[in-house]
Amino acid sequence: MIDLVDADRLRDLTLELVSVESPTGDTAEVARLFARRLEQIGMDVEVLDEAFPATPIVIGRLRGGSAGPTVVLDGHLDTVPIPHAPPTVEDGVVYGRGTADMKGPLACAVETARVVKERGPFPGELVVLATGLHESPGGRGEDLAWLLREHGFEADAVVVCELGGDTFVAAHMGLATMEITVSRPGQATHELKTAAGSPHPITAAGRVIEAFAARSEELAKQQHPLVGTETYFLGEVHGGDFYNRFPTECRLVGTRRWAPGNDYGAVDAELRTLLSGVAEETGCAIELDLRLVRECYEIDPSHPLSTALRGAYEDVTGEELPVAGVKIVADAAFFHGDCGIPAVYHGPIGNGAHGDVESVPVAELVRATKVYLRTLERLWA
Ligand SMILES: [Zn+2]
Repeated sequence: MIDLVDADRLRDLTLELVSVESPTGDTAEVARLFARRLEQIGMDVEVLDEAFPATPIVIGRLRGGSAGPTVVLDGHLDTVPIPHAPPTVEDGVVYGRGTADMKGPLACAVETARVVKERGPFPGELVVLATGLHESPGGRGEDLAWLLREHGFEADAVVVCELGGDTFVAAHMGLATMEITVSRPGQATHELKTAAGSPHPITAAGRVIEAFAARSEELAKQQHPLVGTETYFLGEVHGGDFYNRFPTECRLVGTRRWAPGNDYGAVDAELRTLLSGVAEETGCAIELDLRLVRECYEIDPSHPLSTALRGAYEDVTGEELPVAGVKIVADAAFFHGDCGIPAVYHGPIGNGAHGDVESVPVAELVRATKVYLRTLERLWA
């Protein structure tokens, strides 16, 4: 079946998809184009636009004709909203925003379905699923969460068509963004006209920073074998507006990343305890706006879906797919975590995701498509 993969189709569809701009939250045009391409290869296509009209969810289904597993190839049609030179193809490489992350991989999903359709009957069902609210901060997977938790979506196995082009991603961290506002009552006042002992938001923010540093040192002692150390990270501190005015507010913005074994609920509770200690000690009020981006993810490398993918990679490349972890987050966490649908990651290896120049080699699109096809064959066997 892998001999039927058509490199030119992969190249042309990737180029066509990246020619329609689709920053996070604004993917309707490319979603409709993607839906048409799925229809053309003979899939039954649904475009769900009632919950998120600007980012319709596209679901293409190919029924195999006999009982078997429902296998999903999943990806996102949104890209980071960073300008890019117009799309081109040069020396077997497709350039353009979204080529690597991840319209190229979605083209692989379409090509996989096209080959499966051409080859004829198979057990179960093949589903291609595409969403449009993936990339933060514009998206946090709200559409995928809605599909899985509210609309109802069932499947037996999912391949998220990104990450892990030459490793088997067996774990990734969870991520939440945090915005902390430290404040005191009243208005900003001259430093000499402010009552002695008034709570000082910048000093209190300093205590929060120290507490994060102390907690980070403790966390550094616990290494997760695949993803490393959990972190508190601050990227922004804002406080005060004039050298001798006693400020009323200081704001800290950053991230919290955690390893499998921990979870968002526990992370939230730990942070609130830490902040309420500082609030009590300093007399400042501290508000926390903690938002989940994605939960952490972990799969047993010997799970049947894992072994199907790892075996498929070996079939196609002759190489082993070594087990690894990554720190970045992605969508397998949604399926695998709270929905209990086993999910793995695998995609073509591109370059420059979120960078100034983004690209994917056509040869990688071909390789990944072949891995998807072999994974299906192994799951059907
Ligand atoms: Zn992506």
